[in-house]
Amino acid sequence: MAPSATCARCGDHDETFLHCVRDCRFSSNIWHKIGFIGTDFFTVQNAYDWIKNSTSDNRTTLFLVGLWWVWNRNLMYLNNETWSMTRLCNNIHSSTDVIRSSFQRDGSAAPLDRLIKWNCNNHQGSILNVDGSCLGSPTHAGFGGLLRNNAGFYLSGFSGFIPNSTDILLAELTTIYHGLSKAIEMGVDDLICYYDSLLSINLIFVNTTRFHIYVVLIQDIKDMLDNRNYFLQHTLREGNQCADYLAKLGASSYVEIITHSSPPVDLLPLLRIDASGIFFTRP
Ligand SMILES: [Zn+2]
Repeated sequence: MAPSATCARCGDHDETFLHCVRDCRFSSNIWHKIGFIGTDFFTVQNAYDWIKNSTSDNRTTLFLVGLWWVWNRNLMYLNNETWSMTRLCNNIHSSTDVIRSSFQRDGSAAPLDRLIKWNCNNHQGSILNVDGSCLGSPTHAGFGGLLRNNAGFYLSGFSGFIPNSTDILLAELTTIYHGLSKAIEMGVDDLICYYDSLLSINLIFVNTTRFHIYVVLIQDIKDMLDNRNYFLQHTLREGNQCADYLAKLGASSYVEIITHSSPPVDLLPLLRIDASGIFFTRP
């Protein structure tokens, strides 16, 4: 029970259901951004009809996930949490992909190639790709990564090796750590970090790491992600080839960490492939 019927976010209209989840400019911006732009979508005045009309085509999942996040964002507003539009839309798209793929029937239809490209979700902020690598004999653990804008323009990169370690997990956590530090140092506001190790993603997001040997490093990474529009996303290795190159460069060097303010020559063709948006297929 609120003391006033007026919308607490815009202060312009009564806070009806449709105002909250669709018409308030905070909500309508999200709908526009994920592609619901038809006038019909915004003119239906009956909530039942609106939901029914919007769940009758192939965008049903996107609509329902959008609705969930739009509502969730109301709650976030009340808790003073601020997520950027980019981060919200990224969450909407990735939840939609997960739900769609969970309901895809296996076997009966010809398997679709999975298309992998460097900037998986057409993220609008800066992109960080990182990777770890173990090479040679005796084995040398190295890491590397690079920051680009969303058009693929190279901003900065780094590579290095870890003395006295042959542990790929340490290499992977170290590269995430250095990549995020570099983004913070460069004043990046919106960031998605792609990497291809599911093991490290689990260690960072699952809360059972108190006794893990790398607990300090994992906590440092969590601290850097907190309260920033930074997030980590798994990518398949085909989408991560530039970072893979830098990680191998790091593993074959004897430098603990080096910043590449301009790209090494051998990285240029890989950067060009990513920037041109070429897809790799994976059956
Ligand atoms: Zn409003």
